[in-house]
Amino acid sequence: MTPRTRPDLESVPAYVPGRSFPGAVKLASNETTLGPLPSVREAIAEAAAGLNRYPDNGATELLAALSARLGVPTDRIAVGCGSVSLCQELVQVTCNAGDEVIFAWRSFEAYPIITAVAGATAVKVPNTPDHGHDLKAMLAAITDRTRLIFVCNPNNPTGSLLSRAELEEFLDAVPEHIVVALDEAYFEYVRPAPGEDLPDGLEIAEGRSNVVVLRTFSKAYGLAGIRVGYAVADPSLVTALSKVHTPFSVNSLAQTAAIASLAAAPELLARTDGIVAERERVHAALTAAGYEVPESNANFLWLPLGERSAAFADAAAEAGVVLRNFTGEGTRVTIGDPHENDLFLDFATKQGREVAGIV
Ligand SMILES: *Cc1c(COP(=O)(O)O)cnc(C)c1O
Repeated sequence: MTPRTRPDLESVPAYVPGRSFPGAVKLASNETTLGPLPSVREAIAEAAAGLNRYPDNGATELLAALSARLGVPTDRIAVGCGSVSLCQELVQVTCNAGDEVIFAWRSFEAYPIITAVAGATAVKVPNTPDHGHDLKAMLAAITDRTRLIFVCNPNNPTGSLLSRAELEEFLDAVPEHIVVALDEAYFEYVRPAPGEDLPDGLEIAEGRSNVVVLRTFSKAYGLAGIRVGYAVADPSLVTALSKVHTPFSVNSLAQTAAIASLAAAPELLARTDGIVAERERVHAALTAAGYEVPESNANFLWLPLGERSAAFADAAAEAGVVLRNFTGEGTRVTIGDPHENDLFLDFATKQGREVAGIV
């Protein structure tokens, strides 16, 4: 006999991680190419000696370090096993079956999955023609069943950025009982245009008790493999998150690595300047080769290749570069080291052009 699970899970897609194969350059998962700093590796190695003990479920030291770094009291901070688990916890604390979660589409692949797993209903609002969030349409999608709205800024996978003014106008219009999650996984790569304010969720959330800011150690801090992220929110929401939190899911190595990475923040954040410079270089080279490439404020670029995206990603893989394909929509290219980006550009500016339909 087949064990019985919820029938609705049949229709829930499994999360598809970026592919990789030996010898290939992996530009598929928005990771950093450089490994953790020596100081971080040492801290992790030392913490390994204590693995016979459970981790600190309250993450006391990590909360203190985050509080000092962000200038936010510890009762406004929650940590999670990657910020994706905080996304999941947010759905759990806001939604009963049939309640609605609004997000832009295309955006982070995890949103529809965690929404469906909670038995809530996803309301996907198509992006604007220039691949950004359509905030007006997202407001218009609010109903009396809406409990949560994800705003991904910069947006994964399109790289688009909402300005501070756009975000503030949006938040002013959202009813205060609806939780808005500003997912800032790529915040450290944002470089606003001259004269534009940095759309810093922590500042924007001030005085707005329904706004949660999500950040992660997986991207700019280079710790994707150890799984730790954090949320900054009203203390009442932090308490709610703690109720659905899987106990001990932020392990002791992750807590130690995050603390050591915060201590090395200036050095790690300096690395983002190199990525941003490479992002602009690759953007210019692709544009010159005839590609349409929206401006990006993250560590990746979006190629809206439509029906050609799968063939493009397959051809790139043949050439030794693994990209992320979104069939029928586009291909996402992570910005890596200069030599990795060169390998991708070599493909994209030669045989890739034909696959992309550039004549
Ligand atoms: C990568 C990413 C995350 C979080 O990743 P974790 O590794 O779970 O911290 C969250 N949101 C978006 C949009 C991302 O791209």
